[in-house]
Amino acid sequence: MKIIILVLAVLIAIITNAQQTNLDSLIGSKETTYIKGIVPALATPGYEDIAYQLQSVIADAIAYYSEKYNGIDIHAKFAVLDSINWTTEVFPYGYMYGSAGWIVMPGDIDFNDFIRIYGASSFESILLEESAKKVINPNEITESFFQFVAIHELGHLITSQLIKGGLQEIFLSEMVANVVAYEFLINKNPDKLKGFKLFYDVDLKNYVPHFTTMNELYENYGKMGVDNYVWYHCSFMKLVEEIYNKKDKDFLMSVKKLCQSNNIMEMELTEIAAYIDKDYDGIFTRWLSTFK
Ligand SMILES: [Zn+2]
Repeated sequence: MKIIILVLAVLIAIITNAQQTNLDSLIGSKETTYIKGIVPALATPGYEDIAYQLQSVIADAIAYYSEKYNGIDIHAKFAVLDSINWTTEVFPYGYMYGSAGWIVMPGDIDFNDFIRIYGASSFESILLEESAKKVINPNEITESFFQFVAIHELGHLITSQLIKGGLQEIFLSEMVANVVAYEFLINKNPDKLKGFKLFYDVDLKNYVPHFTTMNELYENYGKMGVDNYVWYHCSFMKLVEEIYNKKDKDFLMSVKKLCQSNNIMEMELTEIAAYIDKDYDGIFTRWLSTFK
């Protein structure tokens, strides 16, 4: 038995290393400028400013969480690429992603590209009306969205440091990453959260999703359109806000406790929610009951 586990562990390590090396060499093969920093960045020439800006946000978030969760050691690799240098082998252009320790962002997505790619074309006018009411420049929506997702990806890296073996449960893993991003931005740069908050409020009211249930999320994870996937995340944000507002608890620590005493992959989502709710007064279960 021990030998089988050892062989499996070695195999997983080889596969993980292979993925990492592949992405390292893929991104390494692009024509980029190297920007030194706590999180070194690679940028398509011409996009150094965006890279610089996001690099400093990521570095601030690392400092915040290194202090909060004593002893974690986060190593992120970061790239801002434009369409010519995009890793289409991994993801279509415009979809930012986190993979094998990399956080990769598109460099030249403006507001118009953003609403087209992320599924907001049908309610663009409402988005514009709402941003005018709140005196938010539409470009701030895009900027805020990408900052949020960059810290979200960092959230996955932090989770894998704090929870042995990482967090394999899809919904919980996405929730934790969102809570990490939300907490950092609301504490350290609340202005930078405004654009994304406006977007998720408007998206929730106006986007018409094809998949709407948790089961459909699991069945279609990684396969559904990015617009529908973004809608799921917009829905999660309402729970993220409630979780964050319960300031005497730490969500990541509650999830860690859950993972230490249970095999979460064998639990129903309702059981997971009930466990977390020991710390969260039933908010998880209540929210989940809105998803059928
Ligand atoms: Zn994620």
